[in-house]
Amino acid sequence: MKEFTLIDTFFKEKGYQRKDVMLGIGDDCALTQVPQGQWLATTTDTLVEGVHFLPDSPARAVAHKAMAVNLSDLAAMGADPCWINLSLSLPNADEAWLGEFSAGLRELCEYYSVQLIGGDTVRGPLSITITAQGFVPENQALTRKGARPGDFVFVTGTLGDAGLGLDLLLGKANLSGKDRQFAIDRHRFPTPRVSTGAMLRRIAHACIDISDGLLADLGHILKQSHCGATLDLDKLPLSAAMQSLNDREKALEYALSAGDDYELLFTVSEEQKGNLDTVLANYNLKATCIGQLNGQAGKLDLRLHGEAYSFQGQGYQHF
Ligand code: ADP
Ligand code: MG
Repeated sequence: MKEFTLIDTFFKEKGYQRKDVMLGIGDDCALTQVPQGQWLATTTDTLVEGVHFLPDSPARAVAHKAMAVNLSDLAAMGADPCWINLSLSLPNADEAWLGEFSAGLRELCEYYSVQLIGGDTVRGPLSITITAQGFVPENQALTRKGARPGDFVFVTGTLGDAGLGLDLLLGKANLSGKDRQFAIDRHRFPTPRVSTGAMLRRIAHACIDISDGLLADLGHILKQSHCGATLDLDKLPLSAAMQSLNDREKALEYALSAGDDYELLFTVSEEQKGNLDTVLANYNLKATCIGQLNGQAGKLDLRLHGEAYSFQGQGYQHF
């Protein structure tokens, strides 16, 4: 299959179409419109086979993850997703793989009202780069540097499941039945917290998505906001699958340092806490308070059963 047939077959004029796209796939550039009063948030993430996903992962899972990691970045800024660009490096034009991959991509585009507006297709080792864009009202984006001493620290969902799922696939952990399936699904099909991110715009001081592990990503907020934090490890939200691990210490390690969960970590002032509870309840969303910030820049205190807990693990780093 030739490059252009491939693009026409799998990507051009397929899937969700938006009114703010003046010109989509097929020319040298796409042309799009940003509404008055909105800023454009832009993010890029690459997934490389063997680095970000296991060789022979299902194409649908690869598409899901490539989309989810990008949408999660938009969510962490409080942006509403609108457009994506897709840069594909493929070892060959495997039509079955492309069929599954593009169907997976379309499914998420449909769900989040996002249009694929362009990309690039080259031959090479399997790798997927998506650039995603979203709108955020002027001056309302959530950054890593807005946190203040006294803020409460919240996370969405449950922590560490994706890391557990990966270890299950690698034979480094042992679970069976629905706990096993749950963790593997969390690894393959992470849920970007798009609606939570948008809802947090007027409520949170700072926000980040957890891609490298709770402590690593909290570290970014502490650094950029010049704060310290105390975390109450008894409060970490753990899934039933995680709780079914016999090794409690290992479960804590997953929750603190495993990457790829794509939950949101955000901070909220005392005054906004009531507001947050109301909005979470109204939208049927969930977040758990796991600690509080203080003015001791860069200092992180972990407490378990009321006592200091020392943890040596690190988040994921490529280099
Ligand atoms: P150019 O050579 O001008 O960069 P290409 O020949 O690479 O353009 O691509 C032709 C059109 O197809 C462009 O509009 C481009 O954005 C789009 N395109 C190429 N690859 C993809 C892809 N994987 N997904 C979506 N659109 C793509
Ligand atoms: Mg090109």
